[in-house]
Amino acid sequence: MKFIVANNDSIIKNFRRVMRIFLIILFIGKSVNCFGADSVHVVRQNETLSQIANKYGVSMSAIQVLNNISNPNLLFAGKKLKIPIGSTKEIDYTVKKGDSLGSIANRFKIKLSILASRNKISRPDLIKIGQKLIIPLDDTKKVETNLLSSSTLKSLSSIRPKTGKWKKIIVHHSATPTDDAVNMHNVHKARGMKNGLAYHFVISNGSRKAYDGEVYIGNRWKSQLDGGHVKKQNLNKTCIGICLIGNFELRAPTAKQMNSLEGLCEYLMRRCSISKSQITTHKIIHPGHTACPGKYFSISKLLNRLNP
Ligand SMILES: [Zn+2]
Repeated sequence: MKFIVANNDSIIKNFRRVMRIFLIILFIGKSVNCFGADSVHVVRQNETLSQIANKYGVSMSAIQVLNNISNPNLLFAGKKLKIPIGSTKEIDYTVKKGDSLGSIANRFKIKLSILASRNKISRPDLIKIGQKLIIPLDDTKKVETNLLSSSTLKSLSSIRPKTGKWKKIIVHHSATPTDDAVNMHNVHKARGMKNGLAYHFVISNGSRKAYDGEVYIGNRWKSQLDGGHVKKQNLNKTCIGICLIGNFELRAPTAKQMNSLEGLCEYLMRRCSISKSQITTHKIIHPGHTACPGKYFSISKLLNRLNP
């Protein structure tokens, strides 16, 4: 009898100990959540980013920003995503040189009136450089800022395109499997081009020292000079040349190159008022003269990805 009582006591003691540990774990877990740690979601087969965003009641953009996802269509099963807790569909934005409220609304694909009212702005023409804005993102629209790195966007926004000069965008390939913009600049200089690099932009495929999708801004864009990328001089005066490194007669551009090209085209379309119908390839401009940018580069695929 005595033996049984002692045993019951130890069962109660053990139970209390287990409960204490359980409560401590519960408390720690809860406080971690309270202090805003992100939860993690493992992507399932065929699950889309918008389904995941809906499940957690957060915006797609917030998940994209937190996980550095440039193309939500390239999500793969098994990927661990951080889910922002308590996130809203709003981001902060600081007004930069060259911005107008209209260009900011355009960039984030929201209505000017919504942006103005969210920030209690009665005179949209009176925004100042450095002013902080709240951007209420529209979840149904893809925001282009994720396609270009923030440093590329920063460099781009510091360059003011010549008003009315640029009418078209022409896409090229380097026709070399590996290359870099500096080498191309030297080759073009040696060919007798005094301004060197014939293109305004070069998008790397990750060869040499650049990273895959890296956008090199050439001096012809920085100084707003004519291109040297097509035969006709009048076209060089009005056409922006973008060269993707790689030989697309042999293989397709990388996904990251296409993301950067999409982001860059959208940026240039907006900044220079170029319509989607004015984005073309070297081959289309000079039929029979060149295969550039190769049979594995699809202009229709690019155009389908761009917003109207
Ligand atoms: Zn070309």
